[in-house]
Amino acid sequence: MNRTAIERASLAAGVAAACLLAAVVIAGQTPAVKFDSGRAWEHLRQLVAIGPRPAGSPEIETTRSYIKKQLAASDVSVVDQAWDDQTPLGRTHMVNLIATIPGASRDRIMISGHYDTKLFRQMRFVGASDGASSAAFLLEIARVLKARRNPFTIEVLFLDGEEAVIDWVGTDHTYGSRHYVAAAKRDGSLASIKANILVDMIGARDLQLRRDSNSTPWLVDIVWAAAKRQRLDSVFVPLMNTVEDDHLPFTQAGVPSVDLIDLDNYREWHTAADNLDAVSARSLQAVGDVVLAALPQIEARLKTPR
Ligand SMILES: [Zn+2]
Repeated sequence: MNRTAIERASLAAGVAAACLLAAVVIAGQTPAVKFDSGRAWEHLRQLVAIGPRPAGSPEIETTRSYIKKQLAASDVSVVDQAWDDQTPLGRTHMVNLIATIPGASRDRIMISGHYDTKLFRQMRFVGASDGASSAAFLLEIARVLKARRNPFTIEVLFLDGEEAVIDWVGTDHTYGSRHYVAAAKRDGSLASIKANILVDMIGARDLQLRRDSNSTPWLVDIVWAAAKRQRLDSVFVPLMNTVEDDHLPFTQAGVPSVDLIDLDNYREWHTAADNLDAVSARSLQAVGDVVLAALPQIEARLKTPR
């Protein structure tokens, strides 16, 4: 090809791209956005490489730095919500990271998950699914949604202190979500959160998500219907379970919430085997595809006066 031919070819390509963009604009749609599990997988790998990341540790501080750097690379703004909480092992410094992608409305759809790992002294617990998969997913979904035209503001919430410091009894769990909801109640911002999609332990190779009876039924229905349309009903199975997780402070405060979690099927849960061998990028892709497919239905439902 000579220079003129190259110029002609690139001009033609430019015109074609402009026509495509015009067609998209005419149809009134935002260009399709796609969850890239390759990127999510790289985040998961980097987080696991930091090592155990329990609340209050130097390693969770490193984790926060990583999350903030990646959000900055996606041009997504983030603020710290820091506090010291009383745990069975004394006062512990915790930080939720609140990332915001402004939309047409100031009302918010939240996508949340925890980034801490459970403290184990007798083993090296790196939480590939339990802690890394949710944080990695949130980083990639933030990048994707930043490129989308969002009718609602999207808040991507990275929660600290989901794990029990000792045992999941009393208030020794869900420190981050309880703190967030209490603060949002106090400052009056809770009412603008219209829906909350929580992800937790979504990395398992043979991921199996069940409908959680503590989640909000209409939100569960929308997500499971989206999974069926995506032919992912082998991952989003028609079985029930009942889960206590970071969504409960939200549902108890009246925020519709759905927990996407594989608790029953993950043999590696809270063992040293919850490492890179136990997780797969394909599972992250399935959840990404379903959440993105469900989002327009959630938005439509929230826009309908009722
Ligand atoms: Zn856990």
